[in-house]
Amino acid sequence: MLVSKTPCLPECAHIAIIGGGAAGICAALGARAQLRRHGIPDAHTSICIFERNPELGIKIRISGGGKCNITHAGEMMSVLSEGFFRQNEQRFLKPAFYGLTNNDVLQWLRERGVETYTRPNGRVFPTSGKALDVLSAFKRLLSEHEIQVFPNVHISSVSRPDDAFAVAMGDAVVKAAQVIIATGGVSYSKVGTTGDGLRFAKAFGHTVVTPYAALAPIYFTKPPEAELVGVSLRQVGLLARASRVIASRMDDVLITHLGVSGPACLSLSREIALVCTSSAVDLCVNFFPKFSADDLHAKLLQLQQDHPTQFVRTFLEQQFPDAVVPFIFRAANVPVEQKWNNFTKDKRRTLVETLKCFFLGRVKDVPIERGEVSAGGVALSEVNPKTMESRLVANLYFAGEVLDVAGEVGGFNLQAAYSTGWVAGQTAAGKLCV
Ligand SMILES: Cc1cc2nc3c(=O)[nH]c(=O)nc-3n(C[C@H](O)[C@H](O)[C@H](O)COP(=O)(O)OP(=O)(O)OC[C@H]3O[C@@H](n4cnc5c(N)ncnc54)[C@H](O)[C@@H]3O)c2cc1C
Repeated sequence: MLVSKTPCLPECAHIAIIGGGAAGICAALGARAQLRRHGIPDAHTSICIFERNPELGIKIRISGGGKCNITHAGEMMSVLSEGFFRQNEQRFLKPAFYGLTNNDVLQWLRERGVETYTRPNGRVFPTSGKALDVLSAFKRLLSEHEIQVFPNVHISSVSRPDDAFAVAMGDAVVKAAQVIIATGGVSYSKVGTTGDGLRFAKAFGHTVVTPYAALAPIYFTKPPEAELVGVSLRQVGLLARASRVIASRMDDVLITHLGVSGPACLSLSREIALVCTSSAVDLCVNFFPKFSADDLHAKLLQLQQDHPTQFVRTFLEQQFPDAVVPFIFRAANVPVEQKWNNFTKDKRRTLVETLKCFFLGRVKDVPIERGEVSAGGVALSEVNPKTMESRLVANLYFAGEVLDVAGEVGGFNLQAAYSTGWVAGQTAAGKLCV
């Protein structure tokens, strides 16, 4: 593998891959695998990755809090439906997910010394707990596959003045027969993902769905009360309400000094980001998502009969962090010293209403910069899902987060990057074999 700190750029490349994240790396591997399958010697074809950072795979390195949630376990159809809630995303990703599966990736890693384990929720991590081990294994793979890596190369434009593409980095230009754009999304822009690929796509006439936040924390217009900051609510419902409930999730919620975070919030953030700029959105907690209001009412009545001399709050303190209980009582307008024995039907009703929809805050912002991924990107309708080739420009491909896909937390986004990258690489190389 050629790794150059001050790159000596080639004049031309058979396949130029822009961006050295999970998608770009797997595109290169897919391309070389295809060429080898056709018996084409490695020395006859150049596969180049151009990466603006000094190192490849920065997002792999920071993923999963430095532990890297590599992928999600299970059959690919269930991985798709658990990880991608939109039908068009599922449909688009399906061929790629079967082109390179979670088990394929795990086998590569295992063969290079990275053991993994699967958490009960299906998330797969390296046993060492180190994302760096995953990245090192990918770098070894690139080396084994004779991929030329050019770090510190910031591609400024891609055009096609004639039969070949011109991949420009300032004044220098590399000619390429096939170009794969794998520049990622726009969140965490400080690590290099500033949306260049979207600009390149637009220049070729592609429709780009304006990026918006996903898997992001949510900020409130009025920060949560100090006593609530750091409180974690387990397995509650998180409801986003405009004039009606627009979306909800059931999972853990973490209250932060600016609003909320945690799994339920991250999952919900994409839907909120879509509407919160045009309408006011309130976030509410349903403390008993598995109970209907009537069932909860009946449960409180039963408690009242069984424990007449007990404080009402005792029941809530048994299930939720103590800090949140006074706020529930305040919202329900029930004294915190209330006992069951003189708990009126009206109070029971307002407590049920509050427990089913406790106002947390009004959404101010879903910061795209803080999202684990960004939604939006190159419109899926203009990319062939079986090949990742542009439907507008032959020999141009898109892979990974630059596409208009965004998965849930759980290893789904990396898997989407590996799979779409692999397919793009395979197709691009396949064209060189005919
Ligand atoms: C903090 C954080 C934690 C995450 N944790 C997980 C996780 O545990 N599991 C999971 O599945 N997903 C996780 N994700 C999401 C996942 O990392 C991304 O979806 C995935 O890495 C996208 O891969 P990609 O190759 O498409 O893009 P990226 O990994 O973003 O790679 C794109 C590359 O292109 C380069 N580039 C951009 N423009 C240019 C240019 N003009 N010239 C040259 N190079 C350029 C960038 O520097 C970058 O290295 C996390 C994301 C973040 C931010």
